Amino acid sequence: MNEIFDVVIIGAGTAGLAALREVKKRTGNFILINDGAWGTVCARVGCMPSKTLIEAANAFHRRGAFEEFGIRGAESLTVDIPAVLQRVRRLRDDFVASTLKTTDALGERAISGRARLLGVGRLAVNDREFRARNIIIATGSHPVVPDAWRPFAKQLLTTDTLFEQETLPPRMAVIGLGPIGIEMAQSLSRLGIDVVAFGAGTNIAGLSDPRVNTTAIDLLRREFAVHLGEEADLEAIKGGGGVRVRVNESEAAVDSVLIGLGRRPNISHLGLETLGVKLDEHGLPPVNPHTMQIGDLPVFLAGDANGNTLLLHEAADEGHIAGINATRAGSAFFARRTPLSIVFSDPGIAMVGRGFESKGDSNILAGEVDFRHQSRARAGQRNRGILRIYGEPGSGRLLGAEMCSPAAEHMAHLLALAVDRSLTVHDMLRLPFYHPVLEEGLRTALRELAAQLPACGESDLAGCEPLNVQSLE
Ligand SMILES: Cc1cc2nc3c(=O)[nH]c(=O)nc-3n(C[C@H](O)[C@H](O)[C@H](O)COP(=O)(O)OP(=O)(O)OC[C@H]3O[C@@H](n4cnc5c(N)ncnc54)[C@H](O)[C@@H]3O)c2cc1C
Repeated sequence: MNEIFDVVIIGAGTAGLAALREVKKRTGNFILINDGAWGTVCARVGCMPSKTLIEAANAFHRRGAFEEFGIRGAESLTVDIPAVLQRVRRLRDDFVASTLKTTDALGERAISGRARLLGVGRLAVNDREFRARNIIIATGSHPVVPDAWRPFAKQLLTTDTLFEQETLPPRMAVIGLGPIGIEMAQSLSRLGIDVVAFGAGTNIAGLSDPRVNTTAIDLLRREFAVHLGEEADLEAIKGGGGVRVRVNESEAAVDSVLIGLGRRPNISHLGLETLGVKLDEHGLPPVNPHTMQIGDLPVFLAGDANGNTLLLHEAADEGHIAGINATRAGSAFFARRTPLSIVFSDPGIAMVGRGFESKGDSNILAGEVDFRHQSRARAGQRNRGILRIYGEPGSGRLLGAEMCSPAAEHMAHLLALAVDRSLTVHDMLRLPFYHPVLEEGLRTALRELAAQLPACGESDLAGCEPLNVQSLE
């Protein structure tokens, strides 16, 4: 290998692999360094095993609707948790294997070990020093576990360890109700575990619209206990193997606790201080989100490691940007995508655009649909949740949406497309809506928004009004 590399990529997760793809197109003089297991967090312990568990939980939960459909015998169905977890790991191994094909093919250009920066263009791995014209840092993130809870290590789980369990205990607490906490609390509960969930804030799953937030909480509370607004603490149960989770007014004795308190960038051991740039209170350097460059240094920080969005498609974008900019003279500026995040609860939770709070609720118009009465949702016994769309007064330009609704992951993509293309409410209402589909609910919300705007022209189908007949909307 050459002595000075064109590019060194630190971290072989989604961001690192996206960077690798771009770097390889432009130079063969690179190395990829990864600490710990190869195969990406997404495939090993993140997006994919969590969604595999959720699918099993939802399949079992569906039996609750059978009687109403006229299907008998649901009460005799049981769930075999060890078998559920084995399937999660089997599919997980497949997902991991597909990512390993890329890195295995690199031969000696793929190095296992923990990289540490020694300054701009210098780093050390396994007591070896390397020099690089450009460095891409894509070291990912780790689950937050408060130091004070270390004595309970035996009873604590994170998503790093959950999918490795042979089985699960009858009573579990989930502490932290962001996207991951919500997904896991609901799926564990749907697998028959007695779940009690705790969130320190009053909003869950990253929602900012109070009406959607309240709806989501109410729906989840029909399935398991949810305590919000106070920090939970742990104490040992004397003479037993479990742990007691306490908040001010309530407590729960459980066998184990899944911690979902969010994730923190893997930067503490990296030596970022050797780069000579000012670090913020979290130890993070200034990163341009359009170039991924740290200041004007030939160093790039991509993916979860920069603490920005902690989402897979954003990590992939950032790796792509960093990979291109680390192999060209002068950084290219990239426009970032319309914000989109999805929580795989049921009903699904999704946010599109900049979020309700950041727009200020007095300066936007909102249209809403309540899926309790939506005909297709009723036919499928999925008539729960609401969807709210925000528009600009006057122009009717779509700004964003938040929802806890059936088919949220699909509605959110449709709305992200509309926001990205700067479509107006009337533009959307000019599009075809088939019957009977869940998207007719989305049209109801659009029509509610349109009613607050100047009317469109007489010959314009955007003005086609509802029939006010439930079965036809
Ligand atoms: C349970 C769970 C569910 C999720 N679900 C979703 C979802 O549904 N949708 C979604 O968009 N996102 C989801 N995410 C988030 C998504 O998985 C991450 O945003 C994404 O995987 C981040 O990729 P990355 O490349 O930044 O980091 P990683 O994939 O974590 O890669 C970083 C790599 O760098 C290595 N490393 C760290 N330090 C060093 C060092 N000093 N030297 C060398 N190597 C180092 C790490 O060991 C790791 O291999 C989920 C995450 C979790 C945990």
